[in-house]
Amino acid sequence: MATAAPYRIVVAGGGTAGWMTAAALIRFLGPGFTVTLVESDAIGTVGVGEATIPQIRMFNASLGIDEDAFVAATGATYKLAIEFVGWTQSGRYMHAFGDVGRDNGLLAFRHTWLRGLAEGVAEPLGTYALNNVAALANRMQRGPARTARVLPDMPYAFHFDAALYARFLRDFAEARGVVRHEGRIVAVARAGEDGDVQALHLDGDRRIEGDLFLDCTGFHARLIGEAMGVGYQDWSHWLPCDRALAVPSARARDFTPYTRATAHDAGWQWRIPLQHRTGNGIVYSSRHLSDDEAAARLLAGLDEPALGDPRPIRFRAGRRETAWAGNVIAIGLASGFLEPLESTSIHLIQSAVERVLKLLPGRRPPAALRDAYNAQAVHEIERIRDFIILHYAANDRAEPFWRERRETPLPDGLAEKITLWRESGDIVREEGDLFGEVAWLQVLVGQGITARGYHPVAAQPPRAQIAEYLDLLAKLNAREVAQMPTHEEFVRAHGAADTEIAA
Ligand SMILES: Cc1cc2nc3c(=O)[nH]c(=O)nc-3n(C[C@H](O)[C@H](O)[C@H](O)COP(=O)(O)OP(=O)(O)OC[C@H]3O[C@@H](n4cnc5c(N)ncnc54)[C@H](O)[C@@H]3O)c2cc1C
Repeated sequence: MATAAPYRIVVAGGGTAGWMTAAALIRFLGPGFTVTLVESDAIGTVGVGEATIPQIRMFNASLGIDEDAFVAATGATYKLAIEFVGWTQSGRYMHAFGDVGRDNGLLAFRHTWLRGLAEGVAEPLGTYALNNVAALANRMQRGPARTARVLPDMPYAFHFDAALYARFLRDFAEARGVVRHEGRIVAVARAGEDGDVQALHLDGDRRIEGDLFLDCTGFHARLIGEAMGVGYQDWSHWLPCDRALAVPSARARDFTPYTRATAHDAGWQWRIPLQHRTGNGIVYSSRHLSDDEAAARLLAGLDEPALGDPRPIRFRAGRRETAWAGNVIAIGLASGFLEPLESTSIHLIQSAVERVLKLLPGRRPPAALRDAYNAQAVHEIERIRDFIILHYAANDRAEPFWRERRETPLPDGLAEKITLWRESGDIVREEGDLFGEVAWLQVLVGQGITARGYHPVAAQPPRAQIAEYLDLLAKLNAREVAQMPTHEEFVRAHGAADTEIAA
């Protein structure tokens, strides 16, 4: 009896996107599929991408990866929050993962807090977020709270070495049957001028045939852009930063369980502590800052000596017009780019891989499947884009770059979201939005946008009751954090790299 030919999936590119994709496909697809990956050592990877959001834990867990082993193999540290420094003149704030305060039935906590502010009995918002309090105290724990059952688990993510993560996933994928070819894609064979991709031609006269091609070639977009001719929607009028310089520095003494994003006069600078080094980079608009000035600013902002020369990276904020065209689906940087202010790119890879697995196209996928995939991808990245623009739009800095950010008209929907918050203290989350109400709340408040109103139910309790409630929540958080190990102690117990990792 003849057996059906296997469905051949070809992953073009072996950066974080390529190896995450290949690892997930081989883990979840059965024996009727083959997965082949092509990467070029000569071209290399973008080599940055070290901060994540908590969803990465689900990705690793779905592959059956032991978390402590992953932390040790990638030199990772734990991440509870992102600290924004200098984004407004009033200083710093955190976007912490997890809840802020406790909702009271249907009444969101933010309304109680707004009432407390109006009555002069509320502390800054971060006081009520367990992750925020723990992050500032450099402490970390996982699992249920130890001191009060009403407190939530702390969601967390990781800072890790992107190259080591790709290596880790490569070992995982190859052990399960992914076949890797090293070489440069020199041509893409299509069925006719407008047809599907049939094969990739590699240097050395090799031909890799496939049924479905996943373009993970990064900014090169070798398949989706070059071969299929899918255009790029440019968002640089909203997000004009177009360059970065990245440099590692010696391991920080301050082993923080959070990413720091410090604003400067034409962009911002990241600081990401790993076990063996600190990752740093400056993101800037080349219209407002020269490369030399950016390099000087980056090096001056390090807390330990640099371990090399700053490495330049160029980019353009935006997205592919369609992530899926013909039998090519772009994943990772080939599908679009948003600056790493909220550490969302690796998450977008994860979510694209999930979508590919859910809507896996057969040999002749209906157009409606492709349309559904593309519509979901657009919604997801555009809502993240709006969240990132929010950080820039609401600022009170004086430099030309920041003035322009304030004066640029906002995308549809974002202005309305800000107005809703201002007028009523309300935040509405749509289906498919990555960031929830408390994420928006922290950034709205952190960027200094004040709400004039709150829910009428929050106006009912006497002032003293509001004060007592807020005081209790603050005390519960402080007591829980006081018994947590330090972040460094926690890493030592859960994933210390046992061999020296080269910086
Ligand atoms: C400055 C900066 C900072 C970032 N920080 C973060 C962060 O903190 N958190 C986060 O989530 N994300 C971050 N990102 C994004 C993150 O780096 C990427 O999402 C992630 O690395 C995925 O990249 P990629 O695999 O799509 O592309 P790449 O890493 O560029 O990989 C492309 C692959 O394609 C191969 N390739 C290309 N052309 C060819 C060809 N012709 N033939 C054969 N192979 C080819 C290359 O060899 C390589 O293997 C950052 C990005 C930038 C630019």
